[in-house]
Amino acid sequence: MDEFGIIETFFKRRPQSSRVLLGIGDDAALMEGPAGHAYVLTTDTLVAGVHFPDGAPGFDVGYKALAVNVSDLAAMGARPLGFLLNLTLPTVDEAWLTRFRDGLSALSEGLAMDLIGGDTVRGPLSVTITAIGEVLQGEALRRDGARVGDRIYVSGFLGEAALGFLARAGRVAVPEEFLADVVARLDRPKPRIAEGQALRSIASAAIDLSDGLVADLGHILKASGVGAEIDLRRLPVSDAYDAVFSTVGYDPALGFGDDYELCFTVPPERLPAFHHILPRFGCGFHYIGDIVAGESLVLRTETGVYIPQALGFNHFRG
Ligand code: ADP
Ligand code: MG
Repeated sequence: MDEFGIIETFFKRRPQSSRVLLGIGDDAALMEGPAGHAYVLTTDTLVAGVHFPDGAPGFDVGYKALAVNVSDLAAMGARPLGFLLNLTLPTVDEAWLTRFRDGLSALSEGLAMDLIGGDTVRGPLSVTITAIGEVLQGEALRRDGARVGDRIYVSGFLGEAALGFLARAGRVAVPEEFLADVVARLDRPKPRIAEGQALRSIASAAIDLSDGLVADLGHILKASGVGAEIDLRRLPVSDAYDAVFSTVGYDPALGFGDDYELCFTVPPERLPAFHHILPRFGCGFHYIGDIVAGESLVLRTETGVYIPQALGFNHFRG
C-alpha cells in the first residue's frame, strides 16, 4: 500500500461539517472563514535522511521546510497568513538553530508570514510546518476543475532540482557554470506565490510540482476525470538540463519532483486574459499539452509515445 492508498483507506471521509469547503485530496484544505473568505491549510514534514541529507545546512532545512508548504498555498492561489512549526531535535545545537531560524526568516519575512505556534520535542531530526493562508470563497485553484480542451502549462523549468540532486550525488556531471544554480533549485526552491494568485481568475485547475510532472499532473487528471496529451518537445528545461540531456533524458524532468513549479490548466476562452498577465512573471509559463477525454496521460515525442521509467516520488511504494 502506498501513501495515497493509506490516505484513501484509513483517513478520507466525507466531511461532517459544512464549513469544510474542501477536505483531503488537494494541495491544501479550505475551511470557511469570515466575510466570504476561506482559510487555506496545508502541512508537510521533512525528515532527516529522507527529505534532506543528515548534516544538511540548517539554513537550507529551515528555508525548504517552509518553502514546500508555501508552495501548496501557491497552488491554491492563496495569500499566505502565518505558520506553525513542529520541531523534533536530537540535541540542542544553538548554531544550527540560528541558521535554521535564518532560513525560515529568509522566506517568511518577504511574505509577511508570522510564526504563530508549534511544538518542540526530542527525537530524530524532523520538521513539520503547517501553513495557513486565505482566499476568497470560490476563488481557490483546485485540482478538480480541468476540462477537455483546456491547455496545460507549467511555470519555470522542470528537472532542475533533479540535476542538483544527481550532481551532488556524483551521478551526473553538470557543467561547473550551472552547478550552483541547480543545487540552489534543489535546496532553496522559490514557491510561486504571486503567480498562483494571478492565476486565480484564469486557471481551471492547478497543482504544485512536488513529486514530478507525471505524478502531479496525474492528480489533476484523476480529480478532474480527464486525460492529457503532453508534447515532450515542449518540456521547458534550462541550459543546464540541455547540457546533460544526452545522459539523463526526459525522466528527471518528468519524475523526480522537488521543483515546486506550478502545473495548471487554462480554458481556451481565458487565454487572452492569461496572455495579458504573462509579461509580469519572469519565470515564464510554458504550454506543454492539452486536456483530452479519457483518463490516461500520454507523453509524445517526435518518434512516438514515450514511457517514462520514473513515475514520481511516493513514500511506501513497494
Ligand atoms: P502535497 O504533495 O500537495 O503536499 P500530499 O500528496 O502530501 O499533497 O497529500 C495529498 C492529500 O492527502 C492532501 O490533501 C493531504 O492533506 C492529504 N493527507 C496526507 N496525509 C494525510 C493524513 N495522514 N491524514 C489526512 N490527510 C492526509
Ligand atoms: Mg502540493
